[in-house]
Amino acid sequence: MKNGTCPLCGAKEIFSGAAVKGKTGMHYSNTIPVSALRVAVLDNYVCGQCGYVQSFIAKEKHLAVIRKKWPLVF
Ligand SMILES: [Zn+2]
Repeated sequence: MKNGTCPLCGAKEIFSGAAVKGKTGMHYSNTIPVSALRVAVLDNYVCGQCGYVQSFIAKEKHLAVIRKKWPLVF
């Protein structure tokens, strides 16, 4: 999605929500829990053709916590 192409339908009409203000929103609506006391804000990308949504961790420091604390999937 970040490269401008939808992985589902192949469309090249991708919209980025990375610059949307207030992403934490009400009740941390655009976040995921990272640890007991921390949430990570997400950057969302949406396909304008099929509506597919893909999210990425917005801040490197939150990604670093995930790398350190979450189990690696094999
Ligand atoms: Zn699509």
